[in-house]
Order: sequence, then C-alpha cells, then structure tokens
Amino acid sequence: MILAALSNSSLLAAYAVPLAAIWASAIGIRRLRERRAEATWQEMKEAGLTQPASLHPVINPEMCIGCGTCVNACPEGKILGLVNGKAKLVEPANCIGHGACAAACPLGAIDLVFGTAERGVDIPHVGPDFQTNVPGLYIAGELGGMGLIRNAIEQGRQAMEEIARRKDRPKGVDYDVIIVGAGPAGISASLAAMEKGLRHLTLEQESFGGTVAHFPRGKIVMTAPVLLPLYGTAKFRETTKEELLAFWEKVAADTGLEVSYGERVDAIERTDKGFLVRTPNGEYTAGAVLLAIGRRGTPRKLGVPGEDQSKVVYRLVDPEQYRGQHVLVVGGGDSALEAAVSISEVPDTTVTLSYRGEGFSRAKPKNRKKVEAAQAEGRLEVLLGSNVKRIGERDVEIKIGEREITIPNDAVIVCAGGILPTGFLKSIGIEVETKYGTA
Ligand SMILES: Cc1cc2nc3c(=O)[nH]c(=O)nc-3n(C[C@H](O)[C@H](O)[C@H](O)COP(=O)(O)OP(=O)(O)OC[C@H]3O[C@@H](n4cnc5c(N)ncnc54)[C@H](O)[C@@H]3O)c2cc1C
Ligand code: SF4
Repeated sequence: MILAALSNSSLLAAYAVPLAAIWASAIGIRRLRERRAEATWQEMKEAGLTQPASLHPVINPEMCIGCGTCVNACPEGKILGLVNGKAKLVEPANCIGHGACAAACPLGAIDLVFGTAERGVDIPHVGPDFQTNVPGLYIAGELGGMGLIRNAIEQGRQAMEEIARRKDRPKGVDYDVIIVGAGPAGISASLAAMEKGLRHLTLEQESFGGTVAHFPRGKIVMTAPVLLPLYGTAKFRETTKEELLAFWEKVAADTGLEVSYGERVDAIERTDKGFLVRTPNGEYTAGAVLLAIGRRGTPRKLGVPGEDQSKVVYRLVDPEQYRGQHVLVVGGGDSALEAAVSISEVPDTTVTLSYRGEGFSRAKPKNRKKVEAAQAEGRLEVLLGSNVKRIGERDVEIKIGEREITIPNDAVIVCAGGILPTGFLKSIGIEVETKYGTA
C-alpha cells in the first residue's frame, strides 16, 4: 500500500513538475504578448492612429473569453492583440478588413463595421446590380465599402456583366462604358468588357494594379482563387506584390488589355445620352461609367512650378531605385518619415526631408526615433518649417522662414496625404451615407 502510494506520488511529481513548467512558460509567453500588444496600442494612440480606414472588427468584451483565436487568424499579423485578457484592435489604422478574425471567433464575439463613433466612413449608395442612385453610373471594388483584392476582382466582373445586360445602350457616344481606375476591380471590369464585346476605355491617374502597386516591396499578399474574365481562375492564395503584379501584367499583355494612364478623372457630367467624362487630357462620352477608384483617394499635390515632371511621385515604391541620387521627401506623417529613412539607408543617396510644420508630432515615436538616428549618422537632412517653392530639372528651391535655398535634386517624393473621393462622388450626384460604427 505504502509502496504503491509512494510510486503514485513520485509518478505525480514526475509529471507535475514538467507540466507546471510548461504551464508557467505558457503564462509567461502570454503575459509577454499582452505587454507587447499594450505597448503597440499605446504607440498607436500617441501617434493618433486609432481610426481604422474602413471595414474593421469590433469586439464584444462581455462575450470575449480571450482565447486569442482571432489574434492568430489575422493574415496581416499583429493587428489584434490580447489586452487585459480580452481581444483588442491594437493597430486600428493598419486593419485592411480581411474579416478573418470575425470568421474565426468561436463565440461570435466580433462584428465587422464601418467607421467609429469619432470618425464616420462615407459609403456610397450602391444597389445589388452595382448601380448607384444615378442611372448608368456603377461602382465596383473597395469604393463600395468591401475591401480586398478578391472582392474587387469579383465585383469588377459582375458589375461589367450587369452593364452588358443593359437594354437601353445609348448610341452616338464614344464608348459603351468608361472604367475609371486600373486596380484589381478596374482590371477585372476591363477584361469583362472585352469579353462582352463592349466599346470601352479604361482611365487611370497613376499606375497599373491600383493600391497593390503601392504595397511595400516584397509584401506578402493574402488572397483567394477568383475568376478573372478572359483568363479563367487565378489560383493565388499567398503571393507577393511583385508576383501578383507580374501575373496581371502578363494577362494584360496576352489579352491586349489597354489602359490610358495619367488620366485623372476630375468631373463626370450627365448628358441626354449618358455621361461626359473629363480628365486633364480630354473629354470622352459614354453610355455608362464604372467607378473602380478604390478608397485611398487622389494624392494631394504641392501646387508648385515643375511638379508635373516625371521625377515627382506621390508614394515610395522601392528605395533601391534612388541609389546614387539626390532625393527630396516632402511631408511630416509616417509615410514621409518611413520613405526618407528607407532611402537614406540605400548607399550613395543624399536625402532631404522637408516639412512645413515645426515637428513630427503626427508620426509614430518609432519613426521619429529613426529619423533622429539617420540625422545623427549624417544620412538625412531635415528641414522643418520649410516649403518647396519650385522643382527644377536638376534642383529644387526651398523656403525656410525668410531664407531660400537651392539644392541639387534628381527625385521628389511628396507624401502629403490624399483627397478622399467623397466630394467627387457627391459632385456627380451619388448619394453617400456616413457610417459611425455600423455594418
Ligand atoms: C497596405 C495594404 C495592404 C493590403 N494587403 C492586402 C492583402 O494582403 N490582401 C488583400 O486582399 N487586400 C489587401 N489590401 C486591400 C487591397 O489593396 C484593396 O482592397 C484593393 O486594392 C481594392 O481594389 P480596387 O480596384 O477597388 O481599388 P484600388 O486598388 O485602390 O485601385 C483604384 C485605382 O483607381 C485609381 N483612381 C483613383 N481615383 C481616380 C481618378 N479620379 N481618376 C483615375 N483613376 C483614379 C487609383 O490610382 C487606383 O489605381 C491591402 C491594402 C493596403 C493599403
Ligand atoms: S476569437 Fe473571439 S473569444 Fe477569442 S479572443 Fe478573439 S474575440 Fe475573444
């Protein structure tokens, strides 16, 4: 008896000790992750990055048991975290609305909503046939509220099928349909227009691929198989930005898809036959218009002489392309600071960061520190309280207080935010609803 009890207790000890160690280490890891999540949230709060751009999760703390399933389900990484034993959106501004968290939560504790009580999100009126309240004017992709590449491709195709079904196709216009935007929704819609034999024109203000073309180099893109007109099912799940763009470019080359670039549509007017679409390059008439312009808006310009040169861009794509160049970055937010620092890390570059404010209070502390380090190492020159006056072919003129300087320049990157499309939509007569945390 005694022997059996002894062997039972030593057996218990043999298991209990390692089990206790595993349990203690699991608790330790969880606490560490909680501390990191809390720190991330504090950092975002300090930088004023607490508002999600569009669709995002809202967690019901009464229902959440803190299992962390949603945290692990998010394809973007650390957007959610556990804070005080409950799930929390710790990087709101970086949420892109995958919705994988809501689908994964075993308790249904997550709702997906647009906007917050503090900041509303404008969602245009779009019917089940993708038509807005303006007859003949359609919307597909993220502009309609639903984010993600697969959704944009799917909606672009479906919207064009609806347009092709229209019986009242007007005559005496340049095109059956004009597609505005060459992101995933616009690419898919343009292919569908070709498939349906519609006379179409695709207008794009910047580059092929839309928002995807502006992802950071090598970004892992999470998507799902989707039907691409004239091609068949594109079977991507996890890929890179570069692979995805190369694939779309090949599809465009194989099918003869054409896009007219540098055409920022700034006005659309209704006519008795359909629409008159204006860009700085010309005017076009069409029976129908499909807006596939996303939600990121149009980059804000400086409005200075010389800005129309090709060396002026509004987003950093690849720092390496600036090797050996004199680069000016303009802006005081995170994107400007990140661009300036990453280019300054490329050998043989001379980088100047110009901002009209007196400090970088809008940017994350992490980025402010990186700027300070780059300055201290002599890799980056910062000009606060400065304004660009003129962009020359080989130089730029900058005013700092009463002083004016001219510095050598090969490239300018303007990171001055964007103009959201709401005003444009309203000017065409499209009804827009502002959502404050509702589905
Ligand atoms: C950092 C980041 C990471 C992301 N990662 C993923 C991911 O991993 N997986 C995923 O599925 N989704 C991801 N997304 C979301 C995805 O990029 C978008 O949902 C998708 O690109 C929307 O496609 P779209 O065609 O509706 O719009 P967009 O891709 O935004 O394209 C709109 C196009 O319209 C053009 N345009 C705008 N206004 C005008 C105008 N007036 N005249 C002419 N052209 C105009 C723009 O220049 C742009 O090319 C991410 C988004 C971001 C910001
Ligand atoms: S999956 Fe649901 S229950 Fe688990 S942490 Fe996330 S919100 Fe809470």
